[in-house]
Amino acid sequence: MRLRPHHLLCMLTFVGEGYSPAFVANYRRLAGRLSAGETIEIVSGPDDICAPLLSDEDAHCFGASVTGRDAAALADIARLLGRELEIGSVIASDPALFQKLRRAFSAGVTRRACTGCDWSSLCDRIAGQDYAGALVMTFSRPETAPGISVRPRE
Ligand code: SF4
Repeated sequence: MRLRPHHLLCMLTFVGEGYSPAFVANYRRLAGRLSAGETIEIVSGPDDICAPLLSDEDAHCFGASVTGRDAAALADIARLLGRELEIGSVIASDPALFQKLRRAFSAGVTRRACTGCDWSSLCDRIAGQDYAGALVMTFSRPETAPGISVRPRE
């Protein structure tokens, strides 16, 4: 699966909300694939999560603020994992990785990428609830997931 760096953080708090039903349906499928252990390839720019948005003329996925989130997330996650990370790096998706990422997210260690994000308070709340309802690494059959709701997120 192709993920831009800051989406490694957004995945931690994904509970089934997003820009549109198509965006959420795609995101849910990706969450299921990650939960099933699919390998992550770090990419630059729009990734598999962004895909349903790219036909929009004003898609924010190319914007400077989003690129800045990626740079901050890449540096912070590399430091956390104690390894070099760059575009093209491959990361194994397993429960230990997400546990480590969630602990750091809750501790604020990897939150530079979230600066100015409209959804930061929501992500704070989900982290504060110990990720109850988060979809990555909590189920592996996205076709059985409950209904969707709509909320924008980066
Ligand atoms: S605050 Fe924004 S950038 Fe940070 S994890 Fe949440 S949605 Fe992603």
